[in-house]
Amino acid sequence: MARPTVGVFALQGDVREHLRALGEAGVDAVAVRRPEELAAVDGLVLPGGESTTILKLARIFELLDPLRERIREGLPVYGSCAGMILLADRVDAGGSPLEATIGGMDMTVRRNAFGRQVDSFEEDLEIEGIEGEPVRAVFIRAPWVEDVGCAATAIGHVSAGEHAGRIVAVRQANLLATSFHPELTGDGRVHAYFCEMVRQFS
Ligand code: GLN
Repeated sequence: MARPTVGVFALQGDVREHLRALGEAGVDAVAVRRPEELAAVDGLVLPGGESTTILKLARIFELLDPLRERIREGLPVYGSCAGMILLADRVDAGGSPLEATIGGMDMTVRRNAFGRQVDSFEEDLEIEGIEGEPVRAVFIRAPWVEDVGCAATAIGHVSAGEHAGRIVAVRQANLLATSFHPELTGDGRVHAYFCEMVRQFS
């Protein structure tokens, strides 16, 4: 495929920043708000925001079932922060539980896991599959991954401090999720990694 089209779920969150990062990674980036737009993309980014709100809006906009269907069919999807929560098959009830996510990734995610005292922080991480310098990760009321099942692979962990070792990046076949927001740092490597997945899976 010469130039794939990658959508950004545009109900809430850093839509513009994701569109720009995808454009820089060499794909056609488009906002997705309607089922026809969802049907036309080769890959999709679920941005951060508030997972409960995004789920509610996705239901109202009639995107929830078509998205579940496309994920089952193998659509490459990348979820950042709230997007990670939406892709999780299980959300830890110790955090603020959600009724039903979009799902697809064999992992348990805990919402707002890093706690109030560290609502937001930044850290340099190694991500398996991303070469060179560590990735600067920006966490904003971020989830972490309690555990991954055998279908999913943890590819990034918190490297230091109180939460060292916590899983914050996961890959499962056509699906990718990070607790952090790579669209905010100007480092395009996570988007480039995802666009490579889109090229492989389309
Ligand atoms: N705390 C949000 C949630 O639980 C996620 C925050 C984010 O996406 N930056 O949905």
